[in-house]
Amino acid sequence: DKQSGARQFPRYQPAMNANSRGLMLLRSDLYQALDKDQLSVVYQPKISLRTGLIVGAESLLRWKHDSLGMISPETFIPLAETSGLIEPIGEWVLATASAQRKCWQREGVPPFLLSVNLSGRQLHQAMLADKIKHILDVSGIEPTDLELEITETFLIQDIDNSVKLLNELKALGIKLSIDDFGTGYSSLNYLNRLPIDTLKIDRSFVKELPQSRERLDLVRNVIQLSHDLGMSVVAEGVETQAQLDTLNTLNCDEIQGYFYSPPVSAGQFRALLENQPLI
Ligand code: C2E
Ligand code: CA
Ligand code: CA
Ligand code: CA
Repeated sequence: DKQSGARQFPRYQPAMNANSRGLMLLRSDLYQALDKDQLSVVYQPKISLRTGLIVGAESLLRWKHDSLGMISPETFIPLAETSGLIEPIGEWVLATASAQRKCWQREGVPPFLLSVNLSGRQLHQAMLADKIKHILDVSGIEPTDLELEITETFLIQDIDNSVKLLNELKALGIKLSIDDFGTGYSSLNYLNRLPIDTLKIDRSFVKELPQSRERLDLVRNVIQLSHDLGMSVVAEGVETQAQLDTLNTLNCDEIQGYFYSPPVSAGQFRALLENQPLI
């Protein structure tokens, strides 16, 4: 009858239920991840197309859960953002990567620009610039050795507020980069109001090079206009020689991607830095 039918087909899909319950459990585990030493930072090199040398590295967060193993940042960063954890976690990444950068500097490892991702949520934090300055002071690295990557989608939500905030950050002497450019449907002229040093072309655009004529023209224009506006350009997600050759022809400044190296541990990154040919 109707009633038993209703019992057989519950309103809530079990899978959906398990999934949201899973996320809730994961969120509570994330609270302990820092204390339990489950977080780490990996580094992905950025290569100058002009010299072929490593000029920078993006710090990327990793979480090794005790029973579930590696959890993707695509899963846990949004969790951190909606649970107030992104501030302490973001500060931990910045402090850890800066301390590592300083340690290598003391040991005579070749210098490079250290990039750290800043979540849009962190930009809402009161006294963000003061906090970053404090972390820089504690680590002892030069502000000019640090770059913060901020996603385009966040910056365009409230452009007036972004201008104000980014100017505060710029005043510290650090560099700023627009991350995932191309995914936010904004124009470069619009973003020109922001004090940005570098633009990162999103992987989804690089992926279709050089086959897509349309994407090729778009990337060429973005690079040209960025240069006109005094910004350098990094292409992310470069996986093939053909993509590299194309970006070279288009005058892109730097590349980042599996073609050269995936994100690697601190020890492996140090080895990459030390083993590259010197000019
Ligand atoms: P993102 O900032 O765009 O970082 C680049 C992502 O692309 C990284 O994924 C990197 O491993 C991956 N990648 C690099 N080269 C290639 C390639 O050639 N092919 C492909 N298919 N992928 C490539 P990851 O480490 O899984 O991070 C994913 C996202 O999580 C990041 O995207 C960033 O938005 C966020 N994230 C990671 N670490 C942090 C962090 O410390 N703070 C914040 N706020 N977000 C972070
Ligand atoms: Ca990034
Ligand atoms: Ca990116
Ligand atoms: Ca991306």
